[in-house]
Amino acid sequence: MAKQKFVYFFGEGKAEGDAKMKELLGGKGANLAEMTNLGIPVPPGFTISTEVCAAYYENKQKYPEGLEKEVLDNLTKLEKVMGKKLGDPEDPLLVSVRSGAAVSMPGMMDTILNLGMNDKAVVGLANKTGNPRFAWDAYRRFIQMYGDIVMGIPHDEFEEALAAMKKAKKVELDTGLDAKDLENLVVEYKKIYKKHTKKDFPQNPLDQLWGAINAVFGSWMNERAIKYRELNNIKGLKGTAVNVQSMVFGNFGDDSGTGVCFSRDPSTGKNEFYGEFLMNAQGEDVVAGIRTPEKIATLAKKNKKVYEQLLDIKDKLENHFRDMQDMEFTVQQGVLYILQTRNGKRAGAAAVKIAVDMVAEGLIDKETAIKRVTPEHLDQLLHPMIDPKALKGIKPLTKGLNASPGAACGRIVFTAKDAEEWAERGEKVLLVRKDTSPEDIGGMVVSEGILTSTGGMTSHAAVVARGMGTPCVAGAKGVSVQGKKVVIGEKTFKEGDWITIDGSTGDVYEGQFPLISPKMSKDLETFLSWCDKVCADSVRGNVKGFLVRTNADQPEDAKRAFDFGAQGVGLCRTEHMFFDKEKLIHFRTMIVADTEEARKEALKKILPLQKKDFFGIFKAMEGRPVTIRLLDPPLHEFVPHTKEEVAELAEHLGVKPKDLQPKIDKLHEANPMLGHRGCRLAVTYPEIYDMQVEAIVLAAIDCVKKNIPVKPEIMIPIVCDEQELALLRPRAEAIIKKNLEKAKVKLDIQIGTMIEVPRAALLADKIAAFADFFSFGTNDLTQMTFAFSRDDVGSFMPAYEKLGLLDVDPFKSVDEEGVGMLMNWATTKGRSVKSDLKVGICGEQGGDPATIDFCFRTGLNYVSCSPFRVPIARLTAAQAVLRNTKK
Ligand code: PEP
Ligand code: MG
Repeated sequence: MAKQKFVYFFGEGKAEGDAKMKELLGGKGANLAEMTNLGIPVPPGFTISTEVCAAYYENKQKYPEGLEKEVLDNLTKLEKVMGKKLGDPEDPLLVSVRSGAAVSMPGMMDTILNLGMNDKAVVGLANKTGNPRFAWDAYRRFIQMYGDIVMGIPHDEFEEALAAMKKAKKVELDTGLDAKDLENLVVEYKKIYKKHTKKDFPQNPLDQLWGAINAVFGSWMNERAIKYRELNNIKGLKGTAVNVQSMVFGNFGDDSGTGVCFSRDPSTGKNEFYGEFLMNAQGEDVVAGIRTPEKIATLAKKNKKVYEQLLDIKDKLENHFRDMQDMEFTVQQGVLYILQTRNGKRAGAAAVKIAVDMVAEGLIDKETAIKRVTPEHLDQLLHPMIDPKALKGIKPLTKGLNASPGAACGRIVFTAKDAEEWAERGEKVLLVRKDTSPEDIGGMVVSEGILTSTGGMTSHAAVVARGMGTPCVAGAKGVSVQGKKVVIGEKTFKEGDWITIDGSTGDVYEGQFPLISPKMSKDLETFLSWCDKVCADSVRGNVKGFLVRTNADQPEDAKRAFDFGAQGVGLCRTEHMFFDKEKLIHFRTMIVADTEEARKEALKKILPLQKKDFFGIFKAMEGRPVTIRLLDPPLHEFVPHTKEEVAELAEHLGVKPKDLQPKIDKLHEANPMLGHRGCRLAVTYPEIYDMQVEAIVLAAIDCVKKNIPVKPEIMIPIVCDEQELALLRPRAEAIIKKNLEKAKVKLDIQIGTMIEVPRAALLADKIAAFADFFSFGTNDLTQMTFAFSRDDVGSFMPAYEKLGLLDVDPFKSVDEEGVGMLMNWATTKGRSVKSDLKVGICGEQGGDPATIDFCFRTGLNYVSCSPFRVPIARLTAAQAVLRNTKK
């Protein structure tokens, strides 16, 4: 058997790896190798593979045999290529040691720079470069990083020593300290090191190297990396790779610098070179947001040659990877090096624009474009914005960088911990900080928005917020955090005060504003039309197409969903039409009626109201199918509860409240979700469904008479076998026939049923004989399959998820194993009787990406979800088609 290879060299001509080896070399390592192969200037180095990380954890944190030798061999090779030796007292080689997993986890794991520095090397470097300030600065940074990351010494202690030195020298910026100051700082830093570790700072570069490698592998399992993987659902990776790379310096003087750039604008997606840099700085200064960087375009003025070279490289890399690139670069004394390239994270609007533009430019095909946009991207695009009407005449308090789009209102908190505590209590919070760091991740997740006073578009706050789709305004100079107070513009705010930020413009406002959802952009429409085409063209056996419908109960909802591209209404819950106060009184009159006459009387009042709403929905959907579900009111949601409600109904009925109360008490059910609801209501009071069917037919007739195309479908809920349909369907058919004949209108109105009771799923073949279509009501089907009350899961579901008893809440994502088995069975059984039986889903899970994938695989004709989720469902439906269809 060939010996396993652990270490891969890159730099200098041809690398041992390439971009296809991400799993083994991590994203960073694989792309460094690829760039080497493309002839792009990359500082040479080597990558220790992710398999070493896996072996390290499998084998009680011991490295596999042979690794040490391979690392030393590669180090020797690196020293040869560079013509320098690690720790050399004359002309030392310095290296960086960085993490890099197959999936990028920005800032979550550790990095150590300037490794190889010691008391002798610093002198050698000072002499060799003729720049002692630079050498001592590099040494003090190394001690700080090594102390903090490898030995766990609190970062703040070093920062305090630095601040004390600046104070003593009366300078504001680090750059104000001279070589002697930094040399003295090294003495201070070493004391801090010894105080904590009881040892002197290690002088042997190989000890330093192994210390750093251990720390980087160790950081794979640190708390924040684990949390990040959990939050981003990153599973199945071997671990991190470790990249040991020769250092290049951006802090060599004014002909040096460092920066981060994107081949296109990551916020808007515009095809414009975009980025930031700082002269005379190291990379961490840009990312940490300590100094506010300059726009990349100004680099053209400072060093035209380097700028043009950078332009060439970004074009080359983008064309090569056929995706927007996020690159880190350093210029050392006028020479450009690329330290990293990766596919750039982007805001939702940018994701869509880049996908659409790259198809037009011939860089990618439509399928690739569809795969590149994520549900989270679209979610961001559909983020709320401040209602412009409410903004009229109001000036922002200040303006920062528009770091992550969308608007957010929240109460000010100053720490991530407070954010988590307040959010736990149900408060909406807005995290206001000088800057953020990876420790703040928990607080950032629960915040409505994030506001920072320093840092640029590539600062931690900006990058993480964009990734999470959380609105963020960064680097707002008019914001000054002072303990538990913050001055914004000219006003002072304290913890708990409300502010609103607009991450799309960078504006910050006092107080709370109404937020509205944005409309679809032209690019988004184009993009989603490609998704629809993929769905429409899909074929599974007999089933052609896979559509997205919406759950809409009101004409306005239907209109919104139509505008979002819904191809029909999958569920109109007719009882929801009565949430409207004016209609509710008639509905309550109907449910407390104790004679058929009284009920019919109330129904007569309801009929025109329902008819009007049905007409509005038909009209909004312009001839697309509209499934109207006949009444299914869990009674506890509708009976009057409070004294005032009882009094109001009593007055309406002309009776005394005390005479009404017994009737209301009689309606009380021990288990309303399993009670007198759905078709059971029509079994006892058939006149209710009669009225609704009549209202549907009359609304449809009105449409036909007005030349409005219409396609109604009537759906009967909560059936447990075919008997209920055998009773109710003929009644409905008779009413349809009578009304159509009377109006002399011809119309096909299908009658189908919901499958939401496990027994109905099991007996689906019998039911199919009486149903033109099925729609899975997975809310009830989940409730009844698990015996988890859908209204009470809050008290135990978090524990189930935490203990891993369930991977996900089955009310969010269909439980494929159990509920899914019933759905599969019912679909197959139903189609064994009617081969072209239309089958859909209308439970809340219908908008969930994993559920949509399952529904496609199960052969459903459509999914149906709330209007705002329609665009995301169109995308995820197309992605499901592409994922599950063999070419
Ligand atoms: C369902 O049960 O999934 C459903 C759509 O009906 P409802 O939520 O109205 O019970
Ligand atoms: Mg239901």
